Amino acid sequence: MIETQSVSFQYPGDKIIAFQDFSIKKGEHTLLLGESGSGKTTLLHLISGLLRGYKGSIHFLQQELNTLSESQLDQFRAQHIGFIFQKNHLISALTTEQNLMLAPYLATKKSDKERIHYLLNRLGLEKKKNANVKTLSQGQAQRVAIARALVNQPAVLFADEPTSALDDKNCDVVIDLLLEVANESKATLIMATHDQRVKNKISKQIILNS
Ligand code: ADP
Ligand code: MG
Repeated sequence: MIETQSVSFQYPGDKIIAFQDFSIKKGEHTLLLGESGSGKTTLLHLISGLLRGYKGSIHFLQQELNTLSESQLDQFRAQHIGFIFQKNHLISALTTEQNLMLAPYLATKKSDKERIHYLLNRLGLEKKKNANVKTLSQGQAQRVAIARALVNQPAVLFADEPTSALDDKNCDVVIDLLLEVANESKATLIMATHDQRVKNKISKQIILNS
């Protein structure tokens, strides 16, 4: 479902980051490993269409991302991709449920209350449905971010360093939960991490060199 060839990217005035070629099949959960600064976040942002202007080719569900206009790319992302950012990017003025309802709205899909309530229950957030996200613990907020990324039933779920702030126990819990909910939602999980604790959880690995 994703195939890259000779992809490279340059931030203005910075050195060129060249990425190895890889392909990821549907359902093939994948770890993107590498030291801090090796380009994991950059690569996730390129594959998910958040960052434009790369050289080479990225095929994603039969589309070459370079050929899509900015608004086509927004639509493509909204339809097919869920993203869990390193910082959770929740809207702090809204409640848990309102944050989840925003995802279909932005994708111009009908908001599916059943789906939202399924995810809230699944992630142990039913009691926090009407809580302002400002009042949630870090772990709860992270689960809201996971739920939000899954609301639109994306084909691919990207997660950028989802365990970096967690102790060993919660690290385990979050990875297992991510894998379970990704499988239930038939989403392919692509996770960037420098966290060695995660290494044995997913066998397909792409290792970036600094
Ligand atoms: P990782 O996620 O593996 O830590 P990044 O993709 O964040 O790596 O960074 C790769 C390289 O690109 C680093 O050298 C970093 O300093 C640089 N970089 C990242 N984001 C920006 C940016 N917005 N502007 C300029 N350089 C950046
Ligand atoms: Mg990063």
